[in-house]
This record gives sequence, structure tokens and C-alpha cells, in this order.
Amino acid sequence: MRELIDVGMDVARINMSHGPLEQHLETYSALREAAADRGRHLGILADLPGPKVRCAAFPEGGIVLEEGDAIQLTAGSDGSNSEMIEVNYETLAADIQTGDRLAFGDGQVVAIVEDKDSDVLKARVVFGGLLEGRKGLHIPSDRLRITAPTPEDLRLLDAMVEVGVDMVALSFVRSAHDIRRLGVEPAPRGPMVVAKIETRAAVENLDSIIEASGAVMVARGDLGNECPIEEIPHLQKEIIQACIAHGRPAITATQMLESMMTAPIPTRAEASDVANAVFDGSSSVMLSGETAVGRDPVNTVRTMARICERADAEFDYDKWAERIADIRDEQKSLVSQSDRWTDSITHAAWQVAVQVEAAAILCLSRSGFTVRSMARFRPKTPILGFSPDTRTVNQLSLSWGSTPFKSMDRSTPLEMIDDALRLANEVGGLRSGDTVVVISGHSTKSRATDTLRLMRVP
Ligand code: PGA
Ligand code: MN
Repeated sequence: MRELIDVGMDVARINMSHGPLEQHLETYSALREAAADRGRHLGILADLPGPKVRCAAFPEGGIVLEEGDAIQLTAGSDGSNSEMIEVNYETLAADIQTGDRLAFGDGQVVAIVEDKDSDVLKARVVFGGLLEGRKGLHIPSDRLRITAPTPEDLRLLDAMVEVGVDMVALSFVRSAHDIRRLGVEPAPRGPMVVAKIETRAAVENLDSIIEASGAVMVARGDLGNECPIEEIPHLQKEIIQACIAHGRPAITATQMLESMMTAPIPTRAEASDVANAVFDGSSSVMLSGETAVGRDPVNTVRTMARICERADAEFDYDKWAERIADIRDEQKSLVSQSDRWTDSITHAAWQVAVQVEAAAILCLSRSGFTVRSMARFRPKTPILGFSPDTRTVNQLSLSWGSTPFKSMDRSTPLEMIDDALRLANEVGGLRSGDTVVVISGHSTKSRATDTLRLMRVP
């Protein structure tokens, strides 16, 4: 964990789909220790499993299915074999319809339902392979009667909120209502909620889901089971663009450096995928199996960081800022007045920073909203984000190009600005005399960021 932090990990995801809660709590503490040891603000994201359907365990060694094989599925948890595959989904036979596509794992084995009676589905294998362990079964999400968050999600959520997790991700979200059912306090009092976009319904309800969440994940793994594969690159762009419009960080996830599960270098296609995710405007890129069970997690993160840094250097920043201005114009009617103020000030800060060739943009923000709003413009000028709230500071690790700092809780903005300037000088890489742009509220009670100052580092 320490080495992963050293080579560029900003956020650690704990995937709660695998293993018991006790183990996740241990991982959580170990991550906190590692971050403290390295003196870094690490974001910790607890990823709730959602209604993930799984097969009961296959016999040792698994079973091999071939194209054309007939298989049967039923609800149950005792075990699966080549005669009958049991699935932990009570109303399987009632909910699935003839013609539905069933994908095992990430689509390694695919079967089409041909017939059913009251308890059993009869399906034909169209793409064969090995089934072993407790393989996940993807059934079309609009057939699922159980919705996220499940009672198990809420139990896991409680435990993670209690230890102070920074962010939680909800799997298989279908509507903004699913997000609200988590019932967490708005960030930073509660964790930031990350909506995983991996169902068709979520794509249809994208704007309202983004509005209800703190950040979004383009969850390409399950999304690729739900939608035709040729749609994935375009959905990725569409989701990221919508996040930018709303000022929410977007995480691009899954199979980014998949071949590094076993190989020391990625495929050329993977290297391009990571760089293109940066060009699309991703705030963060995520690794899954590569770092969870892969051969060399540290090498994988280092490689990903190198690809991102190089892509950042090629990024067309001027064109980007123009594009953001257009998107903001289109979305004007959607945002509240206080958000519009923050939006205008951050836009102005970007322009001023360019014109005076500022050394940094300092954003003072309790909730982090201002920093996220600022990051959308992708300024070439470094963004330093200051908050007195530890959780906000950790959450900022998800935002593009922002370095988070914990500031003291003072009674006036001017005192907070003094502190920020001092920190920027001591640990933020700035020097006395540097020109900086500082944005904040004019009083500690300001609801929006309404003040822009040009200052010199003392
Ligand atoms: P998962 O989510 O790894 O938790 O399934 C990401 C995805 O589906 O892409
Ligand atoms: Mn998923």
C-alpha cells in the first residue's frame, strides 16, 4: 500500500463484493496507516456490491460448456454442476423471459434463454467456456426485481460510515431515487456518493443521477454487458461530458490495463485507452483486478501514472476551456443561483490565472465544491484546494489536477487566506513574491464562492 501511494495512487477502492466485512475494515485501517506514514491525503472509497447475482459454487476444477450445450438454471445456494446451475436470486424463473441473454463473469460464457417453467430456466450456450468458483451472472438489469441499495449494502454502508470512510460507490444504480435511498448526510458530513453507471436505466436517467451524486464512475465492465460493446466508447464520452457540465468528478474504470494482470507492460491498445480516457476529460482512472489480484500492482500503477502524465502534457487546454464555456451556457437553466455564482467565479479565476501567469489558484472551500468547479476548466495553473474538513480534503484526491491541503478552522476568510498562503509557501511549492489567484466566500457564512483576489505569497 505504501509503495502504491509512492507511485501515484490517490484513491483506494475497497471492493466489498468480495470477502467479509471484517477484512474490509482491516484493509481500511491499513490504508489509513499507510497514508499517514507517507504524509499523504488518500481518498478511501467503499464500493457497495448492489444486487449482484452469483452462481452457487461449481465443483472443484469447474465445468466446461460448449457452444450449443443446453443448460438449466434455478434459484438456490447449495451448489452448481453441469445438470443444474443454482443462482442466488429467488425470483429468477419468474423475472427472466425467453430470449434474454445471460452472461457469466464479464461475458466469458453467454447463454440465451429458450424456455422456462415455474422454477427452471432452460438456456442454450452461444459462447462456451469454463465456469468455476462462484461466478457472477449478469441478467439484464431491467429484469431485476431487487434494486440497489440492497439491505446488505445498507449494512455495509453503516459499518463504513462509522469508521469514517471518505466515499461510497453504489453499484447498479438505476435512478436518483436509488442514490437518495442510501440516506447518507450530504458531504462533507457524510461520505461522497459515487454513482456507478452500469445499467441501461442509469444511462437514461443520467442527468438526475449525476445531480444526486457527488461523483460518477463509468463502470465499463457491467455496462459492457448491458449495452452493445460498440456503444461503450461513446457512452464513456457522453457520461464524462455530463459530469463536467455538473461539476462532478468522473472515474473511468475497468480493463484499463487488464493484460498487466500477468504481463510487465500493457498492450498498445490499453496504453491508448488510458490516454484517451484522459483526453475525454476523466478526473480519475481506475484499476481493478490489476491491483487487487494482479502480478505486479506497483508496476501497474506506475505505468498508468506515466501514461496519464504524458497525456496531460499533450492535452489541449485552451480548446478544453472553450468547450467548458459552451457546455456551461447550454446548462445554465439547470444550476441553482449559488452554483452559478461559483461557476462564474471559477471561470473568472481561470481567465485571470492565464492573464497574470499566476503560480497557483488557491481555492478555499468547506465542501470542496469550489475546487471541483475549478478543476473542470483544466487550468494549466496548479490548483491548491484548502478545507478545514478532513473528509473534504480526502475527497479532493478524486478531482483532476488538484492538490488538497487541510487548513485550520478560523473565524474569518481573511485568516483562512493567510493560513492558506503560508501553507502554499511551506509545502505547496510556492515562493515568496509569487502571484496567486485566491477564490473563497466573502464571509464564513457565504453559501457560494463570491470573491476573487489577486495576491502575492508573503
Ligand atoms: P465492479 O464495477 O468492478 O464493481 O463490477 C466496475 C464495472 O462494472 O466496470
Ligand atoms: Mn460493476
